[in-house]
Amino acid sequence: MEQYQELEHKAAGHDGTLTDTDGTLIFKPLNQREFAFYQSVQNGVEHSERQDQGDIPLESWMPVFLGVLNEGKNLSSDEKVTVITDGSSVHLDTKVTPAGDVPSQKYLVLQNLLAGFNKPNVLDIKLGKVLYDSDASDAKKLRMQEVSKTTTSGSLGFRICGMKIQRNSRCNDVLKDEHFEAGASDDEYIFVNKLLGRSRTKEDVKDAIDMFFAHDSLSVERRRQLKVMFLKRLQLFFNTLLDENVRMISSSLLFVYEGDVARWDEEQDADTILNESFMQEDSSDEEVETHPDSTGSTPQKTAVPLSSMSLIDFAHSRVTPGAGYDENVVEGVESLLEIFTDIAK
Ligand code: ADP
Ligand code: MN
Repeated sequence: MEQYQELEHKAAGHDGTLTDTDGTLIFKPLNQREFAFYQSVQNGVEHSERQDQGDIPLESWMPVFLGVLNEGKNLSSDEKVTVITDGSSVHLDTKVTPAGDVPSQKYLVLQNLLAGFNKPNVLDIKLGKVLYDSDASDAKKLRMQEVSKTTTSGSLGFRICGMKIQRNSRCNDVLKDEHFEAGASDDEYIFVNKLLGRSRTKEDVKDAIDMFFAHDSLSVERRRQLKVMFLKRLQLFFNTLLDENVRMISSSLLFVYEGDVARWDEEQDADTILNESFMQEDSSDEEVETHPDSTGSTPQKTAVPLSSMSLIDFAHSRVTPGAGYDENVVEGVESLLEIFTDIAK
């Protein structure tokens, strides 16, 4: 996958997630359960009877799922790679140049939630007290029980997984050396690793979340606006969860905001709660063609928000019709609501 590169602004997770050259899509190594979850949610399988009372459906909080990309060694270099989606297919003109024994790899094709952001600041928060699936091995269950017991996963139902942010002046107060990795000296970004989240307690996790928003070039008003926006999103997301029949183990909320002041000026601080504009104008088309080499036909978003909150990572999630809401996840969101109510003051 020549013109694909490793996703640069990643807050956590495994290697192997790729993005295309213009950063519209991401390609995440396929996991069957995650694939099934995206399909079921897009088909509305998890909705309860309480739905349609005006609450936002779960799908609207998730990245748009476009299908599965097959990268096979049997593809010749000028062959099109077919992305299978529900009801329509997307053809990506790619120059796949497989070296002899490259194993075939399948990817989930998803909306890149950072598309259009000039300087994204990203926070990954893992939801849930229980961090293992019923079918996990005994060893994994024990390991995950220990993680939960010793972190805010257990006490609050969520844990900071990681961040990729522009370094700000709160970082020195909150971060110890082992909590982050800095790039080259001219790189304004730092990667905050999982050790920060593991070291947090019920009492001081708020400081770490506050650090995420402490961008040095954003005015106090803009930072406050961000926190208020995320508080509103959490309130709406909480209502969504009460309607949904799902069980999500180690899913995350991904918080993103724009760190480029020029874009705030351009947008005159106008932000949207939900980013539903992705590929909207193409949604009626049967076929969407993307030509990475030419401009113009690539699906365009209409407006890029200044911040967004999305639910990601469904490798251990399933839809459970009739089972009621996901208590394990709801508790974590309640804790986040309390914290955001406090920091948004
Ligand atoms: P893993 O299973 O490896 O934990 P995740 O789905 O949690 O994979 O993704 C890991 C990281 O990749 C996230 O913390 C986030 O920073 C980034 N990421 C995941 N999905 C997207 C997306 N759709 N758009 C942008 N970034 C994403
Ligand atoms: Mn993850």
